[in-house]
Amino acid sequence: MNQTIHIVGGGLAGVEAAYQVAKLGGKVKLYEMKPHKKSPAHHSDDLAELVCSNSLKGNRISNACGLLKEELRRLGSICMESAEQSKVPAGDALAVDRDKFSRYITETIKNHPNIEVISGEVTKIPDGICILATGPLTSEPLAGEIAKLLGEESLYFFDAAAPVVAKDSIDMSICYKMARYGKGTADYINCPFTKEQYEAFYRELINARLAPLHLEEEKKIKVFEGCMPVEVMAKRGEKTLLFGPMKPVGLPDPVTGKEYYAVVQLRQENTEDTMYNLVGFQTNLTFGEQKRVFSMIPGLQNAEFLRYGVMHRNTYINAPKNLLPTNQLKEHKNIFLAGQMTGVEGYVESMASGLLAGVNAYLYAGGKELLTFPKETALGALLSYITDETIENFQPMNMNFGILPKLNERIRSKQERYEKIAGIALEKLNEFIEANQILKGEQ
Ligand SMILES: Cc1cc2nc3c(=O)[nH]c(=O)nc-3n(C[C@H](O)[C@H](O)[C@H](O)COP(=O)(O)OP(=O)(O)OC[C@H]3O[C@@H](n4cnc5c(N)ncnc54)[C@H](O)[C@@H]3O)c2cc1C
Repeated sequence: MNQTIHIVGGGLAGVEAAYQVAKLGGKVKLYEMKPHKKSPAHHSDDLAELVCSNSLKGNRISNACGLLKEELRRLGSICMESAEQSKVPAGDALAVDRDKFSRYITETIKNHPNIEVISGEVTKIPDGICILATGPLTSEPLAGEIAKLLGEESLYFFDAAAPVVAKDSIDMSICYKMARYGKGTADYINCPFTKEQYEAFYRELINARLAPLHLEEEKKIKVFEGCMPVEVMAKRGEKTLLFGPMKPVGLPDPVTGKEYYAVVQLRQENTEDTMYNLVGFQTNLTFGEQKRVFSMIPGLQNAEFLRYGVMHRNTYINAPKNLLPTNQLKEHKNIFLAGQMTGVEGYVESMASGLLAGVNAYLYAGGKELLTFPKETALGALLSYITDETIENFQPMNMNFGILPKLNERIRSKQERYEKIAGIALEKLNEFIEANQILKGEQ
């Protein structure tokens, strides 16, 4: 391979991609706009900055993000190597000293003979083979170029997502499936409220604690009526939700025919039919408050929240429309995307996405066949989810067990079930690594 791979963005995805290409013997030019220009969330001059929390989440394989981290270790990730060097005590989680974490990576990347780090903002998509990894706060000129390339409707700037719960944690002795007015197929799961239940829920919702909004742009999100947080809508009046996301009409009790006082609808989120989102419940409540208040919805008292709702500035593409599971653009195969802008959500997910983009960009440069990870692995499941063409209204996704294939057997204990799924994932990954020696760093 004698072509240089251009990587834009030296965040978590960009450094991981650069390291993978360089490790395999490829040449990299890595462009990073810091320290000349910084997004409102970036403060350090180093590469691979952790912009907020110092936690990389759970470390056990029975935690979905823990499983993804274990896969990254087996795949030789520089981010995992650095996390090991900089970890601090955090119980079951993997937390790091943020400065040490970034410094270790910055030194490794800057001292690598195959990597040239170039400081400065990139305003045009580079020619040749490139990986765009400019993250949730991609600078405006480049975001504009990406929008031009994919079409304005394919690039999003805000993430206003509703929570997602595991289907098998919904109490179907309380909920029922029905389409409003019986139209079409009964695809929605309905959670019915009595008047008393609604009033209790409403009181908690309007008084619940909110997550702080960091960026100026985030404070403007609420001006968009279409993605108004459910708690903001609730504060307009006690009955407002009954004419919005909790409208009960056309959803009577399937046995008695009696109409309920309020109904929350849950909509299928993935083709595997394991995850459901709370329709119209985009929210800015803290994660703890979402669990507490939304568990008051009848039928969700034991719900497992696979993803919490968020409202923040986030540049990401419509991946199901534009991206292949190799992290390549469908219409421009020389352009790879990596990290949060592909619609994965979270630190570790972004690292994983970068690793995949790096290996595949290297293979592409050598004219070789690209890798698509098996769906049973955490990395494969994540890519399979974000590139699933059947998804409408695509929202970013973090790593969770709901996106991994279901087991053929029924295991009641959640812990045991997740350990079993994780065991299958790691077995599949080992086989995949054996079948693709490049993942061992060999040609
Ligand atoms: C305010 C905020 C808080 C967050 N908190 C958490 C958290 O606690 N936990 C969590 O898991 N996730 C969190 N996230 C999500 C987090 O950003 C991502 O998980 C992760 O950092 C994304 O990695 P990335 O490599 O895609 O982007 P980044 O890590 O943001 O890296 C992108 C890099 O590209 C550079 N860049 C941007 N535009 C250009 C350009 N035109 N030219 C050259 N360089 C450019 C940036 O300076 C940056 O260094 C948070 C996000 C935000 C915005």
